[in-house]
Amino acid sequence: APGPVGSSVIPIVNKLQDIFAQLGSSSTIDLPQVAVVGSQSSGKSSVLEALVGRDFLPRGSDICTRRPLVLQLVYFPRRPDAPAGEMLEWGEFLHIPGKRFHDFSEIRREIQAETDREAGGNKGVSDKQIRLKIFSPNVLNITLVDLPGITKVPVGDQPTDIEARIRTMILSYIKHETCIILAVSPANADLSNSDALQMARIADPDGSRTIGVITKLDIMDKGTDARNFLLGNVIPLRLGYVGVVNRSQQGVGLPLRAVKTPRDLFLHLRPLDINLHRSIKDALANEESFFRRHPILVQHIRSVLPGLKSRINSQLVTVAKEHASYGDVVESKSSSISPNSTVLRQIGISAEVRASGYAKLELLC
Ligand code: GDP
Ligand code: MG
Repeated sequence: APGPVGSSVIPIVNKLQDIFAQLGSSSTIDLPQVAVVGSQSSGKSSVLEALVGRDFLPRGSDICTRRPLVLQLVYFPRRPDAPAGEMLEWGEFLHIPGKRFHDFSEIRREIQAETDREAGGNKGVSDKQIRLKIFSPNVLNITLVDLPGITKVPVGDQPTDIEARIRTMILSYIKHETCIILAVSPANADLSNSDALQMARIADPDGSRTIGVITKLDIMDKGTDARNFLLGNVIPLRLGYVGVVNRSQQGVGLPLRAVKTPRDLFLHLRPLDINLHRSIKDALANEESFFRRHPILVQHIRSVLPGLKSRINSQLVTVAKEHASYGDVVESKSSSISPNSTVLRQIGISAEVRASGYAKLELLC
């Protein structure tokens, strides 16, 4: 049987992303990923949770996502000889190396605690990333970024220019040609005023790497109709739109069939598991078959690989030149404080990039 979608290229890209995240902002290489954008409470975190099939992100009617969360889903198959009851799914944070979180509510608490550590406890927002890996036999290899939502009125410790700051933060992710944008808009607000579609249009004017996601179809106003949007008649997007029904705040959403919309709308709905009382296993099978039919991220990564390779290559040349200009590094080995230790460490990491990822990238390109 073929491996899961994306089993080839995505782990390599994930590894490169981790290495570059540790290098800090000095890195200018942008790697393929999927980012969710939209106004606050549009359902971004809920959409990501449904993709993972687990309940672990801070979500609610208030501002919950206050730092970018980079979520790497890693397909980790069950060993055939694994004892019954062995933990199959766990999370690991980059800021707590080596610790496996098997309890997903503990993952949520750690995201909240780590958010508070950087952004304070009073609704502050920070652009410093939290990086989390989820290992599971039930996920596709994919990298997702949950971003703070666009908010208009400053509350708590938020600065007066909070809206501009969040827009800048979102743009810093979605401006890259390598980023697929999930533009999340709730169906119970006027879709032509969607912050998500407006931001996506700034970053991706021809709509070639934006997927429109319309949430809250279960609580649309009577008389409104999302059909023209879902069909792409209002704002055309090459990758199209999907309609979803996530769990509501109360945790008990309406079954999808209660949605009073024209019959053909159903053809464009990709219902998520929770409200249909379907098992997560069924929902994930659905998800898998959806992505098998639409291997968007893999196609996208393949198309950006050659450019990525040449950018890494030219950075390597620059670093190698700089390395040469320091002379023989072995001499300074005995000295405890090396003035160039940061540079040397970076060269070491670059070498690792070449050794692990780059060689494989070359095979792929
Ligand atoms: P975010 O701020 O964009 O990340 O939004 P959240 O995912 O935190 O969701 C905001 C609130 O809307 C939460 O209380 C969710 O349970 C609720 N919600 C999200 N999607 C849906 C949906 O499709 N239908 C209903 N009824 N509620 C939803
Ligand atoms: Mg959120």
